[in-house]
Amino acid sequence: MPVRTTLLLLSRSRLLREALTRRRLFPTAVSRFIAGPDIAGALAAVRRLAARGLEATLNHLGEHVGNAPAAAAEVEAQRSAIERLRGARLASHLSVKLTQLGLDLDGDLCAAHLRQILEEAAALPTFVRIDMEGSPYTDRTITFYRRLRPTLPNVGVVLQAYLYRTPADLEALLPLGVNVRLCKGAYREPPAVAHPRKRDVDAAFLRLAERLLSPDSLDQGTFAAFATHDPRMVAGVKRLAAERSVPRDRFEFQMLYGIGRDLQTTLVGAGYRVRIYIPYGDAWFPYFMRRLAERPANLVFLLRSLLRG
Ligand SMILES: Cc1cc2nc3c(=O)[nH]c(=O)nc-3n(C[C@H](O)[C@H](O)[C@H](O)COP(=O)(O)OP(=O)(O)OC[C@H]3O[C@@H](n4cnc5c(N)ncnc54)[C@H](O)[C@@H]3O)c2cc1C
Repeated sequence: MPVRTTLLLLSRSRLLREALTRRRLFPTAVSRFIAGPDIAGALAAVRRLAARGLEATLNHLGEHVGNAPAAAAEVEAQRSAIERLRGARLASHLSVKLTQLGLDLDGDLCAAHLRQILEEAAALPTFVRIDMEGSPYTDRTITFYRRLRPTLPNVGVVLQAYLYRTPADLEALLPLGVNVRLCKGAYREPPAVAHPRKRDVDAAFLRLAERLLSPDSLDQGTFAAFATHDPRMVAGVKRLAAERSVPRDRFEFQMLYGIGRDLQTTLVGAGYRVRIYIPYGDAWFPYFMRRLAERPANLVFLLRSLLRG
């Protein structure tokens, strides 16, 4: 079995999650990708990044919560993040996952939680993006977004280039005037659902980028966030934007905390907007495993940290 598939399978393992979390690896291996166990570390990261000209998205880590109190605690975590941003006079978007807000338990409960967060964020004011999870959640995530978008313009969605369905999803969403994050896709998907080969995913990403930056998409009010560390994707987006003279305030690049630092700096230096996704919290295990799966060389780094300490 390829290393990527194995790591993505392990990312859902409760046993491994408990074993690693108990060993308190946080300060060493995990801190490369996650800003800290609590909001204080995340706010410090927002400040450090702002000093380098980078914008931020805070993500309180959590997914697939197993009971209603845990889902309610996630709403509380978002409320507290909004409060702390206000108190510190810092600007940041928020990103949430629907399974973090109880989607696996009860769709209505999840919808109520999301609406609560969006309303509180609108008062800050700030923007909240719904992360996209594995393909069993794609339909429901897009449906939630479509319902909320007309009354809460501070909500955004994510589309994954690896899914065959994404070009059709994008066409259906464009008339709403969407703020969409385009990424390649981070989950284990069967070949019936998603392109299995990297070169096909990359080609799909660039085709979708072209559509997002097309004149009629921009006329419909689209804002595009290109979430990638791949220099070829970044160069492709820059080329498309230059060919179409797309104003710099109609799109941005997004990268994950701890990845692609040089590319971030180069882009900001060239006048592009760059936003960094800053995860924080205790529930780091599945997120961390997806980062290992994207670049199995990161395993060496993990093993070194384990041996050291
Ligand atoms: C801001 C942001 C938000 C995201 N949100 C979602 C989401 O909601 N849903 C979803 O499914 N996916 C999400 N992703 C993850 C995304 O789908 C990809 O899995 C991830 O970005 C890796 O793809 P890539 O475009 O960087 O290209 P790749 O071809 O995977 O990588 C290109 C190069 O980037 C560097 N790189 C990439 N990943 C790593 C890593 N983990 N460690 C070190 N270097 C690395 C390497 O140099 C690599 O050669 C998000 C990504 C970003 C940046």
